[in-house]
Amino acid sequence: MYIAGEFVAAADGRTFLVENPAKSGTAFAEVPRGAAADVDRAVQAAAAAFAKWRDTHWKDRSRALYRIAEAMDANAEELARTLSSETGNALRTITRPEVKLGAETLRYFAGLASETKGETVPLGPTMLSYTLREPYGVVGAIVPWNVPITISIWKIGPALATGNTIVLKPSADAPVAVLALARLAAQFLPAGVLNVVTGLGEEVGAALAAHPGVNKLSFTGHTETGKSVMRAAADRIVPVSLELGGKSPQIVFADANDERTVDGVIAGMRFTRQGQSCTAGSRLFLHESIADDFLAKLAAKLAKIEVGDPLDEATDMGAIASRRQYEKVCGYVAEGAKQAGARMVIGGLPPTEGPLSKGYFVEPTVIAHVRSDWRLAREEIFGPVMVAIPWRDEADAIRMANDTHYGLAAYVWTRDIGRALRTAHAIDAGFVQVNQGGGQLPGQSYGGYKQSGIGREVSLEGMLEGYTQRKAVTVSLG
Ligand code: NAD
Repeated sequence: MYIAGEFVAAADGRTFLVENPAKSGTAFAEVPRGAAADVDRAVQAAAAAFAKWRDTHWKDRSRALYRIAEAMDANAEELARTLSSETGNALRTITRPEVKLGAETLRYFAGLASETKGETVPLGPTMLSYTLREPYGVVGAIVPWNVPITISIWKIGPALATGNTIVLKPSADAPVAVLALARLAAQFLPAGVLNVVTGLGEEVGAALAAHPGVNKLSFTGHTETGKSVMRAAADRIVPVSLELGGKSPQIVFADANDERTVDGVIAGMRFTRQGQSCTAGSRLFLHESIADDFLAKLAAKLAKIEVGDPLDEATDMGAIASRRQYEKVCGYVAEGAKQAGARMVIGGLPPTEGPLSKGYFVEPTVIAHVRSDWRLAREEIFGPVMVAIPWRDEADAIRMANDTHYGLAAYVWTRDIGRALRTAHAIDAGFVQVNQGGGQLPGQSYGGYKQSGIGREVSLEGMLEGYTQRKAVTVSLG
């Protein structure tokens, strides 16, 4: 782990193994299993470093972040390979782009360090009132396994740019690349500014969420875990940002029955990430007049996705990240296969023989004629499993799309601009794409409605609202 500028073991010496999901049963790394005592050390180190870091000129904070981004570029291949080995994500399609985007995102925040500005407030000629944006102090950040580097940077970037210090807890399924990132960052940051404590959620995560020295919590993960983090924060009135789960709709109108839309729908579902994305457009609402034809085109393209060894350059799609996740995904697929009326368009339960049985591989799976009140259509599967639901009129499509406690992303596919924007505005989601299936880019103000989260990330306003508190100062000019 990385605490107070040093790479250390857990205080009690315990460790845990990180599995390579493409070779089930094979350990990829052995990592310290932190506990409350380690969290405490890290928080104390971060609090001590805060006193100086908050007053460090923004130019110096910015420069440090730029240098870390450069070091990421210089070590990109190694970082990407590490990510692939611990997450199962394919090197060519996922982890190389992730490292590149992570470095770009860090540079974006480095550039924003000067923007920690307040406003002046008109109170008449005898008073000068203005606001300052001040850092909170120690940020406790908890991140998931699916996009470990980029999501860590969504927290590290704005926290450090605005003068906070941070204790970061990576997922127990993917801590190694985050530690490698810390090793790069260590060259450019004073001791204690960034700390990484590895371990299990219920041990390190819970201890961090409850620690009295943490002044702000930023969490990305499951909605249920987010609720427990929020409860812990409530006891101490600590502000919380939450980026949680999703079950995002993709609404395809009859005029978008074309190859470009099929490609976009595949991208929106994040199939090459095994569907393991919070923004995966996993509910496909197809206008009934095109449903069968569109599904045939979709199946033909999905059949060409090469599933296999994440490190192989020919691979498009790798393995599910862990046994727990694999079993969960297979459970949903088995349920889909059994549902009366449902049709398995492509994919299904994984092979029990051959190379794909040697790791946690599940092929792209589409289940059609699903009803929007089935569990398959309501719960976040977080795997390469898409459900297709037919609709007849626009109002009905929007009603079904909004019939969920999630509200993260949405995708609208049509050539009719009025209809596209009407639909984009009618959907209860924080991140809507029209005629494209892309992911979060710096500046886009990313975050969820409803139980998909609180707060925004990857943006100037996300940085200011999430990582600074406003102080109003009023001076008498009399
Ligand atoms: P998770 O909630 O199981 O774990 C997330 C993190 O919380 C991990 O570091 C874990 O160790 C920690 N944790 C677990 N129990 C904890 C506890 N009791 N107290 C504090 N911390 C605890 O989620 P996951 O399986 O790692 O990730 C998948 C989930 O993350 C999905 O629901 C996905 O949609 C969501 N996600 C959301 C976004 C987003 O930006 N909205 C991005 C990526 C993933």
